[in-house]
Amino acid sequence: MNAPRLEVDLPAIRHNARLLVNRLGRRGIAVTGVTKAVRGSSAVARELVRAGIRSLGDSRIENIEALRDAGVVARMTLIRSPMLSQVDRVVTHADTSFNTEQDIVSALSAAAVARGRVHGVVLMVELGDLREGIMPEDLEQFVAAMVRLPGLNLVGLGTNLACRGGVVPDEANMAEFTRIVGAIESRFDLTLGVVSGGNSATIDWALGTNRVGRVNDLRLGESILLGREPSHRRPIEGLRTDAFALVGEVIESKVKPGQPWGQVAESAFGTAASGPTSGRIVQTIVAIGEQDTDPAGLVPPAGVRILAASSDHLVVATEQILPIGTELRFEPNYAALLRAVTSSSLVPGGRNLYVCA
Ligand SMILES: *Cc1c(COP(=O)(O)O)cnc(C)c1O
Repeated sequence: MNAPRLEVDLPAIRHNARLLVNRLGRRGIAVTGVTKAVRGSSAVARELVRAGIRSLGDSRIENIEALRDAGVVARMTLIRSPMLSQVDRVVTHADTSFNTEQDIVSALSAAAVARGRVHGVVLMVELGDLREGIMPEDLEQFVAAMVRLPGLNLVGLGTNLACRGGVVPDEANMAEFTRIVGAIESRFDLTLGVVSGGNSATIDWALGTNRVGRVNDLRLGESILLGREPSHRRPIEGLRTDAFALVGEVIESKVKPGQPWGQVAESAFGTAASGPTSGRIVQTIVAIGEQDTDPAGLVPPAGVRILAASSDHLVVATEQILPIGTELRFEPNYAALLRAVTSSSLVPGGRNLYVCA
């Protein structure tokens, strides 16, 4: 088979999605399945739908368009603010988008009216992580201006923590979110159907608290795909962490000194080679590199240790000389997965992951 390649075990993804849908469902929280880390793969999206997920989210309109083209049936939400240059595509292909800027909301309104559509808007509220979000003190004024716009429907509020500042969702910030939801509802005499409390980093809070408050939706990517929560990268109980494998092929395997010789300065990617302090090792080269993935985010198979990586070479220590052509399987973390999925060398044709099982 072709190498390098990214393999996905679809039953593992379905298992993870189903388990999270059930656990959170008992707490009144629905799951929006986030497909951005698999670049809107329809094979993965179909598993999410089979697992009982009714709503899919992606940060790129291209991915949502690909899901629609593939015939995936679900509510589609653009979970990054639309670009002004893409509002027409957004109202055409996404049911809902996340928003934080009045200029964009106005453009969405005009585009929706022109297309004869009603576009759903979720307003994102800043709760301290300092990525996207309207400051809580500005929210009321924002909503007042937005609800006057034709072609738009304010379907809810959302918040996002842990992505930029690493701020952990806890009782205090989540209670604040519920308070904000209640305040907007009573001020404008409306009911917000979607109260989207966060990403995979919010699972611990949601399953541990006895006060989920108004939160009725979480947007989950990493936890479903990799079975881990992002704040500490701990495996989530009962979930599969091995749904993805990055498979590379050995192109050199020799006994070599553990240390480079000659005068040492910067290497291609800024860091000097590291290795055992002395002696000789079996050094093996796998034909994968920075161009294909984030080598620092790969977990090697047993008996293999990653030493270094450049554009197209992954240098590893192995216990013995491996036959040329041997395939080695690595488990990607989130960063490695994201880069692998978007690498044209690993996923030819863009979104067709190699499906196994
Ligand atoms: C990426 C993203 C998610 C999903 O995050 P995971 O940690 O992969 O679950 C949710 N919400 C927003 C706004 C995102 O950008």
